[in-house]
Amino acid sequence: MALAEIVARIRKAEAAAGRAPGSVTLIAVSKVQPADRVAAVLGAGQRVFGENYVQEAAGKWPAWRDQFPGVKLHMIGPLQTNKAKVAVDLFDAIHTVDRPSLAEKLARLAESRGTSPELFVQVNTGAEPQKAGILPEDADAFIATLRGLGLPLAGLMCIPPEDQDSTPHFALLAAMAERNGLTGLSMGMSADFEAAIAQGATHVRVGSAIFGDRVPQPR
Ligand SMILES: *Cc1c(COP(=O)(O)O)cnc(C)c1O
Repeated sequence: MALAEIVARIRKAEAAAGRAPGSVTLIAVSKVQPADRVAAVLGAGQRVFGENYVQEAAGKWPAWRDQFPGVKLHMIGPLQTNKAKVAVDLFDAIHTVDRPSLAEKLARLAESRGTSPELFVQVNTGAEPQKAGILPEDADAFIATLRGLGLPLAGLMCIPPEDQDSTPHFALLAAMAERNGLTGLSMGMSADFEAAIAQGATHVRVGSAIFGDRVPQPR
């Protein structure tokens, strides 16, 4: 199936970049995919999944988690502050921390629960007005704020502009992580995950290349 091919391409890109085999985590992005496709990928052994919508994920993952031990869920879509509580109960990692109000909410939840998902700061590397993420010039200060709140910061995440070469955006994110002492880099999707690995990605988020085209659903 496509999963095996994507895993093979990741291993090849790791080797080409002089990276250790297995140093890149594949997040299989299962948002709005039919259940039979997700079940097939679970059956093939994939355990790390990405979802964009809290409600959709809360509806479908508890049953699969019972059936397939070891599932890790990553939140990769924009997170509304009023859904943060459901999100921290459901997800092992949140890739889309991008504003102080959300950070403060996550810090309060971490304090009351005694634990927090791993967090990534989403950076709007292309400074696109319609896109989520902190602007590059505000990122260093925001990272310091998160550290001041005692939150577990795993790294940075970006979604490059659709009409541009992704590589300069990946390189910018990698440089930003390095100067802030962060090791996690969530970057690369179906069309550009190999380029992301060449620039140091530790987490690639691949959806349609594994599951096929997303079936549009009314929301
Ligand atoms: C949907 C989505 C992906 C996966 O996109 P594909 O092009 O299908 O691989 C990755 N990251 C984010 C943030 C997404 O929303």
